[in-house]
Amino acid sequence: MRFFRLLLGLSLIVLLADCARRPTKLEIYDVVINHVTVVDVVTGQLRPNQVVTVSRGKIVGVEPADRDSYAAKQYVNGNGRYLIPGLWDMHVHFRGGDSLIAANRKSLTLFLAHGVTTVRDAGGDLTPSVFQWRQDMNAGKLAGPRIFTSGPKIDGPGGYWPGSLAVETPAQIRQAVDSLKRLGVDYVKIYDSKISGPAFLNTISEAQKRGLKTTGHMPYSVTLADAVRRGLDATEHLYYVFKAASSKEDSLTALVRSSLSTPKPLGLFAVLPAVYDTYSPEAADRIFKLMAKRKTAVVPTLFIGKTLSELAENDHAQDTLRAYIDPKIQATYQRRLAGARQQSPAAQAFSRKLEAKFYTLVPLMQAAGVSILAGSDSGPFNSFIYPGASLQDELQQLVVAGLTPLQALQAATINGAKFMGVASSTGTIAPGKDADLLLLTANPLENIANIKQIDAVVSRGKAYPTAALKNMMRAVKNP
Ligand SMILES: [Zn+2]
Repeated sequence: MRFFRLLLGLSLIVLLADCARRPTKLEIYDVVINHVTVVDVVTGQLRPNQVVTVSRGKIVGVEPADRDSYAAKQYVNGNGRYLIPGLWDMHVHFRGGDSLIAANRKSLTLFLAHGVTTVRDAGGDLTPSVFQWRQDMNAGKLAGPRIFTSGPKIDGPGGYWPGSLAVETPAQIRQAVDSLKRLGVDYVKIYDSKISGPAFLNTISEAQKRGLKTTGHMPYSVTLADAVRRGLDATEHLYYVFKAASSKEDSLTALVRSSLSTPKPLGLFAVLPAVYDTYSPEAADRIFKLMAKRKTAVVPTLFIGKTLSELAENDHAQDTLRAYIDPKIQATYQRRLAGARQQSPAAQAFSRKLEAKFYTLVPLMQAAGVSILAGSDSGPFNSFIYPGASLQDELQQLVVAGLTPLQALQAATINGAKFMGVASSTGTIAPGKDADLLLLTANPLENIANIKQIDAVVSRGKAYPTAALKNMMRAVKNP
């Protein structure tokens, strides 16, 4: 008897759960996108003529379109259009001090208008503002992408970026990671301007003990394999992967380490030419396989690398998006520009050569099974890397490097969701998932540049047709 009662209870729960998931055909949906081709970013399959229904911020259904009229607060004609999950930019910054809070806030609009519905903030000095925006966006008071944030970066004493937490001793590391945990950050970002090798590795372990993922730059006095074995979850940029692909990695690492106690410590850039000259396909294969096995992802940031290596020769005065970048943020662009102009022609030639080499690593990592995350590094100080558009540029560069358009899309959707541990609720187009979507007028699997052909963006279950996006952009345009 008790068994039957239990069974009845269970089937009731199943029935109720089913009702909650599938509203009746009479329901007025928040958004209906009809007759659309849905792009499956996992398999690359195209499903033509679908109807995608959205309510309360979630995708309700994805089904073959069997009629032309739906009761919807926002009806979107998807005829001849392609629907992909909203894009993830896995490396952005909000920073520059309190006088730049309003300027940074405007970038939320730029992300959304370019189809970026989620960003991962890779550390800065505006953490209270980032939390405030997130709260306002969740409450529907502000439009913008979902934000995963590291809060302040961890670095050594006297670190380069303002607002970083300085650590050296084990006690300082525990204290810093505890404070990040209390703050409610989504992961820990480590920077390498001053942090020591032992403190870097110890930070990975202490974060892991508290259930926090770690990503970062890293001191050249540490090998990437050591960091990966400690549990580093992602390596930002390609400098560290590249060093690990040197046949002389051990001796170069030892050289850097022993230089630290001398008046002339060697930094990353001092060693890069030697790393370049000793590149070994076998060493590369070894580190890629280890990263794949230990699930250490990589954020190649190709577009910023290319842009910065061409900074001295490219004139960005005519960039149309500058009109939407606050003058105070544009002023921060001068720092890298000045640095680039001081570089010798030989140094400039080397950095271009290095970037070209970096591109060749990307398809090799993909083939080895390393998770690739698309990140732009947009934000103050990163000259001419415009929020939103630069993520589209990054996807194009990933394809130039040798990824298929599908692999590039994965790097900016499902891979990001998996990395943040939320793939069961977002990152693909399926019932029950977050309604963060991008409607394109052309097929991005045919040409990745088609991610720029935006017809509408759906963010948190609300549709923004191009006219609405244009209005939002106008609101943040410089006077
Ligand atoms: Zn960065």
